[in-house]
Amino acid sequence: MSQTTRRDLFGAAGVAAAGIAAVAGPTTIEAQEKIKKFLPLENFKYDLEAQTHWTGEGGSAKEATIVQFPVSESIAGVSMRLKPGAMRELHWHAIAAEWAYVIEGNVRATVISPNTEAEQTDFGPGDIWYFPKGHGHALQNLGPGDAHFLIVFDNGAFSEFGTLSVTDWLALTSPEVVVRNLGLPADVVAKLPRKEVYITPGKIPPAVPEAFINGNPSENQHPHKYRLGKATPHVESGKSWIKLVTQKEFPIQSTLSAAVEVIEPGGMREMHWHPNADEWQYYLSGKARVRIFGGHQRILTEEFSKGHVGFIRQGFGHYVENIGTEPLKFIAMFNSPFFEEISITSWLSGNPPGILSDNLGISKEMIAKLPKSPRPFV
Ligand code: MN
Ligand code: MN
Repeated sequence: MSQTTRRDLFGAAGVAAAGIAAVAGPTTIEAQEKIKKFLPLENFKYDLEAQTHWTGEGGSAKEATIVQFPVSESIAGVSMRLKPGAMRELHWHAIAAEWAYVIEGNVRATVISPNTEAEQTDFGPGDIWYFPKGHGHALQNLGPGDAHFLIVFDNGAFSEFGTLSVTDWLALTSPEVVVRNLGLPADVVAKLPRKEVYITPGKIPPAVPEAFINGNPSENQHPHKYRLGKATPHVESGKSWIKLVTQKEFPIQSTLSAAVEVIEPGGMREMHWHPNADEWQYYLSGKARVRIFGGHQRILTEEFSKGHVGFIRQGFGHYVENIGTEPLKFIAMFNSPFFEEISITSWLSGNPPGILSDNLGISKEMIAKLPKSPRPFV
């Protein structure tokens, strides 16, 4: 075969391949993923509180996983309510750690760690918990009113309705094996629930917790609780503030960081991005406008209010504006135990005037007026 013929053949093959691609579209997942990055920005708002996913006598649960909210691949969320005395039964999660923020009411949690230390702790509004992947736990509403809490999982594919519950496991196991493991008579085992209990009504437990049946102390060397509401603001300006909790303040919280943010009416959280994490948001009160910037000339704006969930991909530029008359309050979750942020002010002010003057096309006199230090609220 001559050089010329070979070149022609390769050329023809190249054209044919391009022709097929143009007609049939990408044929590999990799190619589809590449092209997806150039499509318009994905929807980044989900109305969690408008859903009715699970409702029972003891409470309710609504979820936002990648099924309902596809952009949120790294984080899933659940809004859970328990009636006074109601219980979320003993269970664990195989593929996700559980973080939660108590919005309203009082909840008692029991949780077992792999070192066999168990813990029993009460949570009120503003308190958070973190149960690492696989730590078995149960929740009960201490009353007197309803309890409402936001649960966040460090995996967008995790569904609240796929937890590993004690009753489900026992019901699916042969009675002989259950008798052998629990040491109870067969007639008692026969009376155990036949299917998953999940959330069930119950009596309000005593104010002073009962001791564990093993007689062990009900404290843990590695507490699962942190009082975020009582923390000192990380940044504060007028009536706006941010309270931040990373693994530094709350050592067991090893896969997530969290913030409670309040922005006063007319205020704005300055333009910034997070180099190391996605940001998942749950709006507690007020009215927000959020604009995200994702490169490739793509920008998208949404408005959020109570009960809405937002999601900003790692590295995407964004700002949050209070466009209402009330303080804006929201929870922000980051899928990293370390918090990182770069703001437009800290970025620009870390450059000499010459480059900024050339880049932005404005005089050095104007460049001199740029803010010199980060202002979290503008
Ligand atoms: Mn759980
Ligand atoms: Mn942010």
